[in-house]
Amino acid sequence: MAKIAFIGLGHMGGGMAPNLAKAGHDVLAFDLSQEALDRAVERGCTAAVSAAGACKDVEAVVTMLPAGKHVAEVYRASVFGAVPNSAILMDCSTIDIATARSIEEEAAAAGLTMVDAPVSGGIAAAEGGTLTFMVGGSGEGFAKAKPFLDKMGKAVIHAGGPGSGQAAKICNNMLLGATMAATCETFVLAQKLGLDLQTFFDIASKASGQSWSMTSYCPVPGVGPETPADRGYEGGFAAALMLKDLKLAMEAAEQAGAYTPMGGEAEELYRRFVDLSGGGKDFSGIIKMIDDSWKPTDGDQD
Ligand code: NAD
Repeated sequence: MAKIAFIGLGHMGGGMAPNLAKAGHDVLAFDLSQEALDRAVERGCTAAVSAAGACKDVEAVVTMLPAGKHVAEVYRASVFGAVPNSAILMDCSTIDIATARSIEEEAAAAGLTMVDAPVSGGIAAAEGGTLTFMVGGSGEGFAKAKPFLDKMGKAVIHAGGPGSGQAAKICNNMLLGATMAATCETFVLAQKLGLDLQTFFDIASKASGQSWSMTSYCPVPGVGPETPADRGYEGGFAAALMLKDLKLAMEAAEQAGAYTPMGGEAEELYRRFVDLSGGGKDFSGIIKMIDDSWKPTDGDQD
């Protein structure tokens, strides 16, 4: 089986790398955190002494890092000079489209094949190997990446050319952020209008207001399927990460000249929630800020 370098073993990478090892691959893992590295070794990976050290003689490289600056630094300083030209490079982090495109151009100029392959699905999907990968890059890059990504996900979709995986990811999450905020304010209004919330859920689930944010991820405890709302908004998808994705979406919208008022409003709401210490809560917890427990100050009311 193939030798794979895996760099970035945090909440997501720490679940994904062992799935490649479980599939029989020889996974050379590296993280700046010794604790994260030790955990990956316990789960079947081999520790590398550095990112460049992990990349020698491999058939594939996977990175799962916090943001664009970490990805640019790791590829420029450690990956490009160390990997053989035959290797497929897959960055699964969520980063800005411009950085993704420029790193992929640098890879191509060095004779390397690279794709952006961000994921949908959180820590549980990373552990369970049920992520959805949205892949940006050439057809050849997609074909080389897919067999590896298949071992970590339930769906691997070619979104288009370089940066298209990141574009699909932030468009999806802008829609998710906006529909969650709309779902939260709708349920707060429904309650104030005297509706029974389970009854309203049953009606809206079968009516034109239906959305994934409501039917699969209802922000109201005890209504709809079990969700983070039933666990005090713990676990799930952290509001701080939703804010990160909304910021990336707004940056991309500005660069593309797209008018995205709903995305902008969602970004503003999540920024306030994170400022009010909600960053570690699941993103559906924003309903706590939208209901009566939170009132805008005078300065916020413009
Ligand atoms: P994390 O902060 O838990 O993990 C990142 C890891 O990268 C850390 O262990 C850190 O030590 C390591 N790292 C940073 N710089 C490094 C370097 N130069 N060399 C080696 N290792 C380095 O983050 P995460 O939650 O695993 O998220 C990773 C990416 O996945 C982010 O881009 C995030 O937006 C995206 N994502 C996260 C989720 C989620 O639910 N957590 C869901 C979808 C997408």
